[in-house]
Amino acid sequence: MKTIKTIKEMKEFSSQARGAGKTIAFVPTMGFFHEGHLSLMREGRRRGDLLIVSLFVNPTQFGPHEDFKNYPRDFGRDSKMAKGVGTDVLFAPEAGEMYPPDHQTIVLVEKVTRNLCGASRPTHFQGVTTVVLMLFEIVMPHVAIFGEKDYQQLVTVQQLARDLHMSVEVMGMPTVREADGLAMSSRNTYLLPEERKAALSLYRSLQIAKELLQKGERKADRILQEMKGTLQSESLVRIDYVQICDAHTLQDVDRIEGEVVVALAAYLGKTRLIDNFVFRNL
Ligand code: AMP
Repeated sequence: MKTIKTIKEMKEFSSQARGAGKTIAFVPTMGFFHEGHLSLMREGRRRGDLLIVSLFVNPTQFGPHEDFKNYPRDFGRDSKMAKGVGTDVLFAPEAGEMYPPDHQTIVLVEKVTRNLCGASRPTHFQGVTTVVLMLFEIVMPHVAIFGEKDYQQLVTVQQLARDLHMSVEVMGMPTVREADGLAMSSRNTYLLPEERKAALSLYRSLQIAKELLQKGERKADRILQEMKGTLQSESLVRIDYVQICDAHTLQDVDRIEGEVVVALAAYLGKTRLIDNFVFRNL
């Protein structure tokens, strides 16, 4: 595996690969890898002649009081893990090169970013779409792979690619979970043991929603009430949102029809976790 740190070298590598007729699969990440990241990389390995993984803790997607400074970082461990699943290039640029002092451009995807996480993190998605557009421009992938764990991010990047008529295919991969159901996240490392236990209620509340849907419940209110009850039974959990939205527009629905995403965000102490599942009522 080759590690590339500069934009110039990354562009040269990708141009040459494309010129040689190679298909480039790309997995953008912020590092501190777990099985969720690795599942994306394995899919990339299958999809491309070349697998490029970026590791960049993107400052612009963090709010002023969020965890940018404390975000877990371990380049040595990440390097080994990426290499272990057959990554060809690990692209790890410096923030100063990605955002030189006179950087002025922001990429804003409108409607799908307003609800859910966009409502509680107002500048988050513009940070994501700005860096993703830059990374696509630098890495020039044919296919880019994102996790459904960050469902709104996936929908937003798909909208970005469509709106700007980009040639990249943006695909999603299922959420990878711990044995007890907690969605894997680099942020799980922040959790104290008692918070880790309480965090399981996020998954439990999603399971309850799934059961209600499978039994035929179609009123969003009824499902949300049950979910909130489960979350509120844990005193360490502070709900940010629990919502049921159209899976494509990400607007709230009253009745479940077609494809919906059941999504939640909650704090355990200072740690904000998200989870979701998509239900297809077809
Ligand atoms: P991050 O490093 O957290 O920005 O995540 C990088 C990519 O990995 C994103 O596309 C995430 O959606 C994806 N990802 C994070 N956690 C998981 C998970 N538990 N299962 C599947 N994909 C994930």
